[in-house]
Amino acid sequence: MSFSFPELPYSYDALEPHMDAQTMELHYSKHHQGYFNKFMAAIEGTDNANKSLEDIFSNITNESAGIRNNGGGYYNHRIFWNSMSPNGGGEPTGELADAINSAFGSFEKFKEEFSNAAKTRFGSGWAWLIVENGTLKVTSTANQDNPLMNSESTNGTPIMGLDVWEHAYYLKYQNRRPDYVNAFWNVVNWDFVSAEYSKNK
Ligand code: MN
Repeated sequence: MSFSFPELPYSYDALEPHMDAQTMELHYSKHHQGYFNKFMAAIEGTDNANKSLEDIFSNITNESAGIRNNGGGYYNHRIFWNSMSPNGGGEPTGELADAINSAFGSFEKFKEEFSNAAKTRFGSGWAWLIVENGTLKVTSTANQDNPLMNSESTNGTPIMGLDVWEHAYYLKYQNRRPDYVNAFWNVVNWDFVSAEYSKNK
């Protein structure tokens, strides 16, 4: 099997005060671990055990809800943890900055569009920055779906993701999802997002 549960790239309290330690611990060790365990149980002994996540997602409409929800949850949280860093925040530079300016007009406009996608996603889901044929787009998905899934009308490779499930923010921000979304910008790992852009453009 080629799937493994990733280490969190920093300590639970590393993103304080923007992301609180208790939420990070529960989110990583219970939620993310739970998606991984259930995904592994669902694919064990099946053809999916030998496929890549990308292959599974590209045909997700033919898979069970268990594969879709838990495979998505496994993949999506990997992007989320890497989208943040204790040394994050600020603005991107270099070719990612150029690509953002070209796709959205300015960093501020991109930030507004991404924040809006996160704040207005009804119920549980995700906001994404994706790249498709060199072009950046903002999109959002419900539940644990993602833009690699053939169930989505907007497809592309996620290079930055924000979890807007209540489990991601309720302990610290309660019902104030916009405050959580605003706090995310203080910890965005532009080094990761830039590297993913370069790999996938
Ligand atoms: Mn989550």
